[in-house]
Amino acid sequence: MEREVRVRFAPSPTGPLHIGGVRTALYNYLFARKMGGKMLLRIEDTDQNRFVPGAEDYIRQSLEWCGIVLDESPWNEGPHAPYRQSERKPMYMQYALQLVESGHAYYAFDTPEELDAMRARLTAAKVPNPQYNAITRAQMRNSLTLPEDEVKQLLDAGTAYVIRLKVPRKEEVRFNDMIRGWVVVHSSSIDDKVLMKSDGMPTYHLANIVDDHLMEITHVIRGEEWLPSAPLHVLLYRYFGWESTMPQFAHLPLLLKPDGTGKLSKRDGDRLGFPVFPLEWHGTDAETGEPTVSSGYRESGYLPDAFINFLAFLGWNPGSQQELFSMDELIQEFSIERVSKSPARFDQNKVRWYNEQYLRAKPDGELAGYLLESLQAQGQTDVSTEKAEQIAALVKERATFPADLAREAQLFFQRPGSYDEQVVSKKWNAQVAGALAAFAQQLPAATDTSPDAIKALLTQVVEGLGMKLGQVLQALRVAVTGAAAGPDLMAIMSILGVQETAERINVALEQLNSYTAA
Ligand code: GLU
Repeated sequence: MEREVRVRFAPSPTGPLHIGGVRTALYNYLFARKMGGKMLLRIEDTDQNRFVPGAEDYIRQSLEWCGIVLDESPWNEGPHAPYRQSERKPMYMQYALQLVESGHAYYAFDTPEELDAMRARLTAAKVPNPQYNAITRAQMRNSLTLPEDEVKQLLDAGTAYVIRLKVPRKEEVRFNDMIRGWVVVHSSSIDDKVLMKSDGMPTYHLANIVDDHLMEITHVIRGEEWLPSAPLHVLLYRYFGWESTMPQFAHLPLLLKPDGTGKLSKRDGDRLGFPVFPLEWHGTDAETGEPTVSSGYRESGYLPDAFINFLAFLGWNPGSQQELFSMDELIQEFSIERVSKSPARFDQNKVRWYNEQYLRAKPDGELAGYLLESLQAQGQTDVSTEKAEQIAALVKERATFPADLAREAQLFFQRPGSYDEQVVSKKWNAQVAGALAAFAQQLPAATDTSPDAIKALLTQVVEGLGMKLGQVLQALRVAVTGAAAGPDLMAIMSILGVQETAERINVALEQLNSYTAA
């Protein structure tokens, strides 16, 4: 019988989720939904030293903001609860002991000093990568080298020990990665990893495999940094006798800095000029202990749909020209086969581009909501919804973030404080000023104040004076807005209203008097 597809996202709460982590969660989610399966989240908190308060909550809020919905998690539970490894602690020992019994794992009693001495010895003998393995274990104090009764005595006396996996000396470990194809690793390159620590906590490797098995995970989709651990995981499945239900692995490509010079890391923070975290993170500086704030996509004005669409393309493409995909469309189109092996470069311009597309596609009413909110925050409370909608529809083409709407809208609420000098020096002269004065005089009486009607009136005035529209347009824009460029001028005048427009022109004529004196 076909097994139901079950995937998991298994973050460790050691800090804020990096965008690479969000991408991993997203691909798991898309795959699960596409396959009609389930996605769960498991908190991997076996390393208590690296626990960061607030990190779990941050992970939860980030996924919620992104619209990644979990079927099972520590927050909504599910049939395999608990979903935090620290709460599953009593479960793991029996599995480690099972491996000891079957001869695939062993007790090791070496003290930290003995381990250091072993490494020093090997380094002195110019062994390139000193490790506890099939060769070195023979010289160490473990249940493979010590007599059975001594091992029993040590255990009975409560001597500190770890349980290590007994990795075979010469064996090829192979598995078929869904993205990379066959991966073959020689067991001599794998060390005897600790499975159970001396404090009774499992290591990541043991807990991860036991839980993936118990939680009936069918596909492990995770970052490339876990690829070196995969052969070890394959060995564990084999030794537990779980090979027939071993999940399929898919290791996602690395995310690189925009210039391709290396992995995009958490430490890049805001250094590169863009956030590496979905939400703002309040942390502490590891060295000084001072509070730190790292910016987030949410707080920087990114829309979740745009962020998700962008992330989906960092390592995957649909094989067509289409770039805009809603979450539902991504689910329809997604396939692991189309995930690339080669690293994906972060592109700051692209994520901004996505935000512009999603922002501009929003209904004007929604954009007006953003605008009113920003205006109100600035103390501008007398703007009607209707006016906000008109303004938003006009200025959205110049906005990347919701907050840009209010910035672009300022021209409607503030008369120009200055006039673009270049335009004034090139375009402003007595003839143009005359035409503008005539236009300002006729404008207040206009009954039709639509952009087209205003344009018709302007054309009529200008041509009546034997001039062309092109001669006055830039000067008029500067008189009304102060700036050399901006949204459609006729629409601006229509929204401002004929009275206000005429007044602005008259103020400009007065202020720029000196240019017309010649
Ligand atoms: N806890 C690991 C992490 O923090 C999970 C790796 C995996 O998915 O196996 O990324």
